[in-house]
Amino acid sequence: MARVAIVTGGTRGIGKAICLALKEQGCRVVANYGGDDAKARAFTAETEIPAYKWDVGDYEATIAGCAQVEQDVGPIDIVVNNAGITRDGVLHKMSWEDWNEVMRINLGGCFNMAKASFPGMRERGWGRIVNIGSINGQAGQYGQVNYAAAKSGIHGFTKALAQEGAKYGVTVNAIAPGYVDTDMVAAVPQPVLEKIIAKIPVGRLGHAEEIARGVAFLTSEDGGFVTGSTMSINGGQHMY
Ligand code: NDP
Repeated sequence: MARVAIVTGGTRGIGKAICLALKEQGCRVVANYGGDDAKARAFTAETEIPAYKWDVGDYEATIAGCAQVEQDVGPIDIVVNNAGITRDGVLHKMSWEDWNEVMRINLGGCFNMAKASFPGMRERGWGRIVNIGSINGQAGQYGQVNYAAAKSGIHGFTKALAQEGAKYGVTVNAIAPGYVDTDMVAAVPQPVLEKIIAKIPVGRLGHAEEIARGVAFLTSEDGGFVTGSTMSINGGQHMY
């Protein structure tokens, strides 16, 4: 029986590559997204993977969204918490709203998705949760106290939930990508991006598919002895 996998923020960027890798691995994949209906429609037309719209930072919406997925597709076996946003700015100029929105979606989304799916995985004795962190949650980044705090929080969340899931066959891991060529990175001004690339030992940005291969391994049967870990996929930019 194919495993049911849900990828938040799965309709573009890294999430889309993860959806395709899990589909290739034989999963029944569902994508979630936050607002861009046109991208979601194009994604489903191209991949035949259904896309469900809700805000993962909204607890009630997430519980209802996952219940709908389970009704339509079946019990959720695999969750990839990939949805994330940036609201960059140095602390003295950052609004509380920009702080809170990043914490609410990037970190709160992981909690909300786990609340919706972890109890069922635990009962059934099998589950995989992969949380997408960031190199900037490991190393910090100028102008990103909100994003770095949320991503760093993801790494702590992962290690704590891994301890709760281990004896029930539920693994919980994180991936900390370096800079990957998606819309998020396209928003970084070119001169800043050139300086970033100069600091990446392999000399280039990562590709979304390279992050997706890591997720595919962690969610596979073969990944069952890996839990509470953070896989860094960053071209050698930060060795942790
Ligand atoms: P993109 O900006 O390309 O895509 C973000 C995805 O998240 C979209 O599908 C978007 O949906 C969705 N999303 C945003 N807010 C919400 C929400 N409230 N509820 C549900 N879905 C939402 O991001 P990337 O592919 O670049 O990044 C994916 C993940 O990887 C993020 O967590 C990011 O922080 C992390 N990461 C990325 C790096 C990079 O270099 N790109 C580096 C390190 C980490 P919609 O299309 O509807 O807006």
